[in-house]
Amino acid sequence: MSIENVETLVVGAGQAGIAMSEHLSKGGVPHLVLERHRIAERWRSERWDSLVANGPAWHDRFPGLEFSDIGPDGFAAKESVADYFVAYAEKIAAPIRCGVEVTSVRSHVGRRGFRVETSKGPIEASYLVAATGPFQRPIIPTVVPESAGLFQIHSNAYRNPGQLPEGAVLVIGAGSSGAQIADELLRAGKPVFLSVGPHDRPPRSYRGRDFVWWLGVLGKWDAETPPQGKEHVTIAVSGAYGGKTVDFRRFAERGMVLVGRAEGFRGGVMSFAPDLADNIANGDANYLSVLDEADAFIARNGLDLPQEPEARKIGPDPRCVSEPLRELNLAKAGITAIIWATGFAVDYGWLKVGSFDEKGRPKHRRGVSEVPGLYFLGLPWLSRRGSSFIWGVWHDAKFLADHISMQRGYLAYRPGMQAKTKSPALAGG
Ligand SMILES: Cc1cc2nc3c(=O)[nH]c(=O)nc-3n(C[C@H](O)[C@H](O)[C@H](O)COP(=O)(O)OP(=O)(O)OC[C@H]3O[C@@H](n4cnc5c(N)ncnc54)[C@H](O)[C@@H]3O)c2cc1C
Repeated sequence: MSIENVETLVVGAGQAGIAMSEHLSKGGVPHLVLERHRIAERWRSERWDSLVANGPAWHDRFPGLEFSDIGPDGFAAKESVADYFVAYAEKIAAPIRCGVEVTSVRSHVGRRGFRVETSKGPIEASYLVAATGPFQRPIIPTVVPESAGLFQIHSNAYRNPGQLPEGAVLVIGAGSSGAQIADELLRAGKPVFLSVGPHDRPPRSYRGRDFVWWLGVLGKWDAETPPQGKEHVTIAVSGAYGGKTVDFRRFAERGMVLVGRAEGFRGGVMSFAPDLADNIANGDANYLSVLDEADAFIARNGLDLPQEPEARKIGPDPRCVSEPLRELNLAKAGITAIIWATGFAVDYGWLKVGSFDEKGRPKHRRGVSEVPGLYFLGLPWLSRRGSSFIWGVWHDAKFLADHISMQRGYLAYRPGMQAKTKSPALAGG
């Protein structure tokens, strides 16, 4: 059987794979993108029906194209985000082959490059970019056994309130997904319990600017590592209902019962850590710190932005925070469903090369793996806080495409060769 040869193979055609294709094309690097389903599949089939982007359309996009169906300050619906990436791929004529799954990748022995097995036959590639997503495998902690008879799903399988059985629901995890889903269920008239862990909750907007702008000008998207001692920071933000600050106190005022981090389950009783008040207080402190830094930035730069003193008003602790539940008999509380908004892990089972840490996470520096020719893109904190977000991945892809171009330049060198254009070290520039 003849084997197809591709110089650079990109696995995955979400935003990361498309950004990679754009930069490779700009650098004149021949490449192919393989996608097992459709372009931007996860925005189509792994997000709930009402999801809108967490950032406004002027920010959560690539530089080369604006959203056609929404104004710059609106929040694009998930289908619109997927359509955007399809349009983007068309605009840059990205060489994407859909419906092809990469099933294994192995290094060649004694020569450069990789042998790639796919659902449509083998491919040989000199460079390989794994762009299979920051959020690949949903994590559901093994806390509540199936025998408990509860309807349990991960947030990536949640679609809408009508999908749940009659009765109350416990949402575990209060990052953007958990907070938004809990809010939607409450609005639909369901009794909702929300387990709130440590989180950041920046204001949706302050003094006339969205938080994405503030995080940008304050340099926070550029943070290279999570704060010390943390692997990841959950940011509770929402573009839903026109974009509102996530405020857990308001949720409680509307009838939601907040509880601490879920710790265990025994005999139908869920236990919660005594950390709820601290988590809420730390979330408030984060919120207020953004206001403080924003005020200082405005003063330092002499900006004329409207005052917003009411943003500093934080209501009293609701009773569920001051007298938190430590245990909850789920049946007695009428809870019939649990939604685990507990995050994702990576799954590189198909990648039989590369070095991974004990948690299966790839070892790399800004996406450049320890294995020559192998790259990772789209992972949280790949180079900075913005790396797994739409705008951030575009910049990381540029860096990787430059790296590949430079490597190609070096490998093309022969003694005595006159570089026709640039020196190898500049080839990517
Ligand atoms: C609920 C939710 C809301 C989000 N909202 C925003 C937001 O508003 N703004 C923002 O900037 N970011 C947001 N993000 C973060 C991020 O933008 C998305 O997670 C985005 O989908 C990541 O894009 P990606 O291309 O890196 O990965 P993915 O979208 O996961 O794309 C990877 C692709 O690889 C394919 N694939 C996987 N394995 C293989 C294989 N072996 N062979 C072939 N193909 C394969 C998959 O089918 C998939 O299409 C959100 C994330 C979540 C979970």
